[in-house]
This record gives sequence, C-alpha cells and structure tokens, in this order.
Amino acid sequence: MTIVDAATLVPLAELEELERIQAYAFSAATFEVRERKIVVVNPIRGRGRQNSDIAHELSHIILEHDLSEVRELAGMPFRTCKPEEEEEATALGGTLLLPRDLLVSAARRGASVDAIADQYSVTVEMARFRYNTTGVGKQVAMNRSR
Ligand SMILES: [Zn+2]
Repeated sequence: MTIVDAATLVPLAELEELERIQAYAFSAATFEVRERKIVVVNPIRGRGRQNSDIAHELSHIILEHDLSEVRELAGMPFRTCKPEEEEEATALGGTLLLPRDLLVSAARRGASVDAIADQYSVTVEMARFRYNTTGVGKQVAMNRSR
C-alpha cells in the first residue's frame, strides 16, 4: 500500500475549492493501480484526521471490501462502499489506531484523553470514542478503587 498526498495529483486550490463546495466530501480514497493499492489523502485535514482516514482506508483493504464502485463529485471520482462496509472500516480503523491494550496501559499511567490523542497523533474525538467504547476508563477506575 502506498499513501499519496492528493496535492501531488491535483492543485491544492482545487482541493480547497472542493472543500468549499462540499465540506468533508473528500477525506481519503483508495485506488487500485496494477494490483497496487494507492491511498490518496487530503492534506487539508489535520494530522489526526488524516491518520483516521488512512486507518479507515487500510481497513477496507484488510477486510477485502469491493473497491470497484466509483461515484463522481465535482468532476472527481470517488469510491464508495456499502454502508455496513463503511461501518466495519471505521470500527477496525479505530482499533488499529488505538488498540485496547494500548489504551489500558495509557490509562494505567494516568494519561488523559487529550494526552492520548496528542501522543498517538489521533483526534481527541477518536481518543474519547475508543476510550469510552472499549470500557478502558471504567476498567482502570475499578482497579484503582479495589
Ligand atoms: Zn470507507
């Protein structure tokens, strides 16, 4: 898998124009070129958001989702998956970015959600989502009170 900055393919001004027309229309997309997977990311996004997008696209590849369906938006092609495949890719992506064991050790040394986001270059929203949905915060609190 190769990660490519979209600004190396189209002028940054066009990416900014697309963003203006429809915010968050393009975050990242996976293309298959001669059996190689190319993940194109939007440089307008911050580092944490880009990492979420890359993990999401990588998850589509790991889960072997069908990459064939392409739609067009403002003249640019976009691949879309079935809604349940999007959910799967988002769930696996979060797990890849912040595995539960990593969250447990971070929580044990008292790292806050903000500190976790900062240390692992993810968005605060992603860190909070994983921290809450994995039950790590509760687990650590329970062990402390014993
Ligand atoms: Zn997707």
